[in-house]
Amino acid sequence: MQQQMDTASESEKLYALDPLGNVLLFTSQLAFPGLLHESSSRQGSPILNGKADNEPLPRKIAILTSGGDAPGMNACVRAVVRYGISKGCEMYAIYEGYQGMVDGGDRIRKMDWKSVRGWMRVGGTSIGTARCKAFQTAEGRIQGAENLIKEGIDSIIVCGGDGSLTGADVFRSEWPTHVENLKKTNRITEEEAERHKHLTIVGLVGSIDNDMSSTDITIGAVTSLHRICEAVDSINTTAMSHSRAFVVEVMGRHCGWLALMAGIATGADFVFIPERPPGEEDWRSRLCEVAQRHRQLGKRKTIIIVAEGALDNSLKPIKSEEIKDILTDRLGLDTRVTTLGHVQRGGSPCAADRILATIQSVEAVRAVLTSKPDTPSPLIISRNNQIMSTSLMKAVELTHEVAKAISEKNFARAMELRDPQFAEEFNAFTASTILDDCSDHIVLPKHQQMRVAILHIGAPSGGMNAATRTAVRYALNRGHHPILVFNGFSGLVRGTMEDATWIGVDGWTSHGGSELGTNRHVPGVDVDMGMVAYQIQKNKIQGLMVIGGFEAFSSLVELEKARKFYPSLCIPVCHLPATISNNVPGTDYSLGTDTSLNAIVTSCDAIGQSARSSRRRVFVVEVQGGKSGYLAVEGGIASSANTVYIPEEGISLSRLQSDVKHLLALYFDDDPDMSEGRIILRTEDVSDTYTTDVISNILKDEGHQLFDSRTAVLGHIQQGDTPSPLDRIRATRLAIRCIQFIEEHSSCALDKAHANNEAVPIELTNCEESVAVVGIWGADVRYNSTNSLLPITDMKNRKPRTAWWFEHRPLVDLLAGRGMFTPQAQKLFAEEKKQEKQ
Ligand code: ADP
Repeated sequence: MQQQMDTASESEKLYALDPLGNVLLFTSQLAFPGLLHESSSRQGSPILNGKADNEPLPRKIAILTSGGDAPGMNACVRAVVRYGISKGCEMYAIYEGYQGMVDGGDRIRKMDWKSVRGWMRVGGTSIGTARCKAFQTAEGRIQGAENLIKEGIDSIIVCGGDGSLTGADVFRSEWPTHVENLKKTNRITEEEAERHKHLTIVGLVGSIDNDMSSTDITIGAVTSLHRICEAVDSINTTAMSHSRAFVVEVMGRHCGWLALMAGIATGADFVFIPERPPGEEDWRSRLCEVAQRHRQLGKRKTIIIVAEGALDNSLKPIKSEEIKDILTDRLGLDTRVTTLGHVQRGGSPCAADRILATIQSVEAVRAVLTSKPDTPSPLIISRNNQIMSTSLMKAVELTHEVAKAISEKNFARAMELRDPQFAEEFNAFTASTILDDCSDHIVLPKHQQMRVAILHIGAPSGGMNAATRTAVRYALNRGHHPILVFNGFSGLVRGTMEDATWIGVDGWTSHGGSELGTNRHVPGVDVDMGMVAYQIQKNKIQGLMVIGGFEAFSSLVELEKARKFYPSLCIPVCHLPATISNNVPGTDYSLGTDTSLNAIVTSCDAIGQSARSSRRRVFVVEVQGGKSGYLAVEGGIASSANTVYIPEEGISLSRLQSDVKHLLALYFDDDPDMSEGRIILRTEDVSDTYTTDVISNILKDEGHQLFDSRTAVLGHIQQGDTPSPLDRIRATRLAIRCIQFIEEHSSCALDKAHANNEAVPIELTNCEESVAVVGIWGADVRYNSTNSLLPITDMKNRKPRTAWWFEHRPLVDLLAGRGMFTPQAQKLFAEEKKQEKQ
């Protein structure tokens, strides 16, 4: 980088290298007036949007948001626009949903790279949404078709609920007729009719209700759940103080996802949802029994969550006011109703929605570009932790079938049509929240009841306490004897443990950190294995549940190895993955990752705001993760980072040079009157040489007067405060499966021991499958023995050898404009040079 200040002239001048190595002149006056003028207009950023003469006509793609707004819709618009531009398409936004299409004019606007800057963090939809009556008429749709053809648009990406997607499919099926009509009535020319013979439609589901069949999750649903959980957590404290009951009504006319997940995540006493009405005719008495039993155990609060469309099994609506009257009249509880209403739609999208919206939107543009006139309109969905497409109309039909199944009282079918985890999660709620009355269907025979120890290991992460609570309650409901071990394996060898009680873990769903205390001591490495085996035998522990990160995995490996020396270790041992680094083999997600991503996103939003408000500044933000780049990559997508430095790629001098050039080009292309903040995420262990400070200093020096740089080390803030709803829900599901794992891997041996009249069964099980990670695999929960995971684990770097999230990595740079300084930029710079010579 060279620079020279020309003090003799009226303006300051700076000479620098452009991304292609050409010498550029920067002045305090507009160096390239035409170029900068154009870039600040709606026509787009010349560097990012430029096109070469000989390229074919670009495809014109429009995006619209329709129906009820959902957080994450803006992230969709941003990713669609930017990814489309990167693929050489002309991108449009149709403002106000279908109404904008019918109205035409300035409601159909060309978008450039900069039009969507900063949209990731904004809730709702900045291009507006509406319910449009006109679009439900043929004339309205013909008008819409004419407006699109006049703009030359031949593809639309619709982000909305099932109504909007139905409308989109109707529109596409009628398209040839509309084109014919418009041609006949001379509203469009023959040539236009020929060029726009086909319309491509791709759907994205934006809905807070998570009410679309075929997809595991819809854009906006998780953010809405955040709002509900924040509200219920707050209500909990006032309910506790006054010993009150609260009936909280949440959205969901035909779908109980929000109510059920909120029930699980907040530890509510009872939930009412449309798909699974209370089994008993007399649900009122059942409700009172449950509430009273929980009160008798010492609970000072009662929380009931009701979906707005909740029904009883004769399809009579169950209303909040009625529940309130029942609790007041029959139990004498001071009961209040809180209807959350539109709060649930609001606010900045959570990390999961930002990531989902971005990745699905990129897939939507790809679907447009690969679509054929005869393929059915695709809907972009998320299934088994994979983004894929399905037939839009089939998904809509299945969704409508839920309402039909409910109206026919076919509740089993309604549950089946929901995402695959729904039924499992409903059972998880009942089994972990409601104290059962020891009815036979849940309690195991006496000889199968076990003493199960639960401990935490490694750094704290969101969801550890929620998992412990569920494990304790589910175990108690099964007749087991759960034991809480304090301070990990070092606590175990000292015998620091106590019997767990149902009320003792009350409220733990929302507690961050580790209530049991945790440390990194691994048995056989940091603590004596003999003492571990001794305490297990002494305390008659028949199953062990270890909640933690990579240390937990290492512990299981050591315990398995030590079984041949210590028979008391021949008990089922399971590892529930919990670490913000997401580096445990055998699971897609560990508990705490979602809480951590939200903490990173919140911090980066604040840092970005500070940077923008003061001056042109690049923040190098250091995130945790050890040798795993998960937090940097997913956090990078969710916080619109400029780039990320991760251990999987490392850092080199040439990489830094190219990043400096990229930043210079971006700042050079920015509006000179606007300050702009940019963020780079760096995983803490990526390099000993290129530390966060070193990178920041390099950027500061090389940015000269275009931008400066600062650092932010997020540190333990990343462990989050209260665990996120997703972590709480994952904790509940996994904890139940852990207890089931222990039951499944010991029942035969216990039976045998019982038959032999052995008090403490030893040598119960030494099969390697009985030491396993209980992890999330797509939509399933799977047990993987530690031995089966060892070949796919990099023990030295403490992580799996491959990572599913790594394919998201290129999106961070791509959506920040990297790779865009290709032929277009070259041509523009060449043109500028030509102009200078003239
Ligand atoms: P959501 O998309 O959230 O389910 P709506 O059901 O209100 O919301 O649908 C949004 C808009 O989609 C409607 O206002 C209407 O313009 C359009 N739409 C819905 N159904 C149809 C249909 N069958 N034909 C044409 N347009 C429709």
